Amino acid sequence: MQFELNEEQKLIQGTARRIAKERVAPRAAELDETGEYPHDIFEAFREVELLGLTIPEQYGGSGAGVFALALAVEEVAKYCCASGLMLLLSALPTQPLVLGGSESQKRTWLSQVAKGEAKAAYCLTEPNSGSDASALQSRAVRDGDDYILNGEKMFISGGTVADFVVAFAKTGDRGGPSDISAFIVPTDRPGFSVARTDRKMGVRGVPTANIVFEDVRLGPELLLGGEEGSGFKHAMLTLNTLRPVVGARGVGLAEGAMTYALDYARQREAFGKPISELQAIQFMFADMAIQIEAARLLVYQGAWRVDQGKYQREDAALLSIAKAYATEVAVKVSSDALQVLGAQGYMMDHPLERHYRDARQLMIVEGTSQIQRVVIARALLERELVYP
Ligand SMILES: Cc1cc2nc3c(=O)[nH]c(=O)nc-3n(C[C@H](O)[C@H](O)[C@H](O)COP(=O)(O)OP(=O)(O)OC[C@H]3O[C@@H](n4cnc5c(N)ncnc54)[C@H](O)[C@@H]3O)c2cc1C
Repeated sequence: MQFELNEEQKLIQGTARRIAKERVAPRAAELDETGEYPHDIFEAFREVELLGLTIPEQYGGSGAGVFALALAVEEVAKYCCASGLMLLLSALPTQPLVLGGSESQKRTWLSQVAKGEAKAAYCLTEPNSGSDASALQSRAVRDGDDYILNGEKMFISGGTVADFVVAFAKTGDRGGPSDISAFIVPTDRPGFSVARTDRKMGVRGVPTANIVFEDVRLGPELLLGGEEGSGFKHAMLTLNTLRPVVGARGVGLAEGAMTYALDYARQREAFGKPISELQAIQFMFADMAIQIEAARLLVYQGAWRVDQGKYQREDAALLSIAKAYATEVAVKVSSDALQVLGAQGYMMDHPLERHYRDARQLMIVEGTSQIQRVVIARALLERELVYP
């Protein structure tokens, strides 16, 4: 067992740490207040080539992998969970292409994202289907060689700035997930529109959009992998591969919140001494550190496993454990860190109320905490997760 990062991973971690401190941290509160997508931070990520970590080298990325992406996201999320999401969004809509795209689709679309020339979004959720994703109702109907796509997608991260989206829609009528196909949808196509952006509790720097497809004509070259019926599989495998990265957003956020509260506790005095000398406060910090370290190990293990190709259905439990635990740790630690600041923690003069609001998103996106438990329990019952 090897716990040391390799040279490439150390370099990526160091680069992300520097960008996070120099470019992300000073902007984090403002992004939250304005809710405007930070093109300058995207540009900073592009300059240091953090947008192609999960995209193979032959398609313009660095091929550093999911572990490397998790490391970068962890650094950025210490200061700004929304900016961590921007990095994650370099992977979420591109993983279906990496996993199931045709050679020409990979060559056309992946390098644009890796080089920061295009932004993309992942369109699975609909008004009537979230956790039960295979119940989606968007439909693509054949018209000659083309498809005509109709439907509505909800809560799409980065949907307002995307140059293309990967959208999941029904092409069959057999009943079940094999009816679902995936399409690459350029957002400048007639019939594509952003109907609304959401007013949300946190992670405001990356707008979340309601997207409508109205008779969007798509050529056969935009059907993922040129194959009908594989869309749901690629949607699920994509989520599996990125569960540790959502977890990394939680780990980074928790680390940032704890560090901020620790600095505050050293300065703030009560009863004639810094509150950091009160054992009650010290134990809160010890508990935060225990949870962060456990979450970090789960996230690193999960990301490492994905890079080893272990992200199929039978591998999913450990990825779900990492996602569920790390995101719940983010909520608990950001809440406790806020508590350490007392009334100050509740105020927007400090980042902890923002961290707390941002953390809450993590237990919902890319499979809620309950859905992760469904996956874990199933793996136990089906003996995929065993402790012989
Ligand atoms: C800020 C934000 C950004 C998002 N970005 C994207 C995006 O980019 N792309 C995208 O496609 N989607 C996105 N989503 C949507 C997200 O993936 C869904 O919200 C999530 O999958 C849950 O679906 P739902 O909200 O419809 O909840 P529902 O499925 O309606 O679930 C409601 C409640 O029931 C519980 N529940 C449902 N089924 C079960 C079950 N079988 N067992 C136990 N409990 C269950 C859930 O855990 C939840 O508590 C985003 C959401 C948010 C909040």
